[in-house]
Amino acid sequence: MRADFLPFARPSIGDADIAAVVEILRSGWITTGAKNAEFETEFSRYVGAPGAVALCSATAGMHVALAVLGVGAEDELITPSMTWVSTANLAVLSGAKPVFADVDRNTLMVTPDSVSERTTGRTKVIVPVHFAGAPVDLMPLRRLAALKGIHLIEDAAHALGTEYMGERIGRRGTAIFSFHPIKNITTGEGGMLCSDDTRLLDRIRQLKFHGLGVDAYDRLGQGRVPQAEVLEPGFKYNLTDMAAALGITQLAQVDEFNRKRTELASHYAKRLAAIDEILPLASPGYSSRHAWHLFIVRLDIDRAGISRDEFMAELKERNIGTGLHFRAIHLQKYYRETMGFRRGMLPNTEWNSDRILSLPLFPAMTEADIDDVVAAIRDVLAGRKGR
Ligand SMILES: *Cc1c(COP(=O)(O)O)cnc(C)c1O
Repeated sequence: MRADFLPFARPSIGDADIAAVVEILRSGWITTGAKNAEFETEFSRYVGAPGAVALCSATAGMHVALAVLGVGAEDELITPSMTWVSTANLAVLSGAKPVFADVDRNTLMVTPDSVSERTTGRTKVIVPVHFAGAPVDLMPLRRLAALKGIHLIEDAAHALGTEYMGERIGRRGTAIFSFHPIKNITTGEGGMLCSDDTRLLDRIRQLKFHGLGVDAYDRLGQGRVPQAEVLEPGFKYNLTDMAAALGITQLAQVDEFNRKRTELASHYAKRLAAIDEILPLASPGYSSRHAWHLFIVRLDIDRAGISRDEFMAELKERNIGTGLHFRAIHLQKYYRETMGFRRGMLPNTEWNSDRILSLPLFPAMTEADIDDVVAAIRDVLAGRKGR
């Protein structure tokens, strides 16, 4: 058995990252300032977006975006149930109704049909999720949204470096990225909203900091103009310059991180192909580049004779960490008890929610680590067969 615990994710923080943060700590200006502006510029350049706004999390970015779009009572927001809880929670907090579209059984992403059949006259916004590093099929969703006058905001928390039809996610439309420590780059906590809608960007810039006028902030790092006025009530969702400095050095490494992730993922695919109880996800059929944010597999629970939760616990006993991305939102307590969602409503989501787990994947891992994971998986499954 492996001697030390292998976590399912670990951020890659090197000397250059540390030096950049220390420089800000010593500079006398640690909250939003020049480093935020630089991070936004570098990020826009990387994804090819016309503009970007840095925020303290992806969730904060989604909250401001929904507020700008005026999402509220009587409105419906379509998103998958197979995702992190933040978007559905924000729909509820805004007074709107979350409407869950089922996912493709093997890519875990919504399909043009599953979204289309959930649209009504009240649908205000569609939030598809680029899952695990693969892009959702955007073209038909863009067409649907344009046809019906519905807003489209992409949850790109997993998709930094992901390409769809030869273009990076974030290049067009509106997409929100996350820099939580398990994501492809980190700022501790942080997020970035990219958009080709400059009016939306201006409103978000204003609302993310108390609703003060956009011109109130002196971007050269001198701080706010003390006389700045509230133009509309806003949030406090700005990113610190300590975090932005880390974001800049992390972004400079993202292609290298993703190259390592891709190599490791292909090693996993080869090693797991011979294990019948482990079912990989499918890659999308359209042209894409995968950012390998997560390496997710499904456990064939009938063949394995063990539940997914027991399987995760057995791997942990063997010093292998795993993650669960995600437990279906509509089956969680609040959504069941208060909003009336039930098992049976989203068959593909539920089937996966019972079987998925994320295996360790981060740039500093080695092929030997993967061999340890695969050996532990084989050991757990062999133990079960002997019973
Ligand atoms: C991590 C994540 C988020 C939230 O990102 P934060 O920066 O933690 O707010 C949203 N959606 C998905 C799919 C995520 O994985």
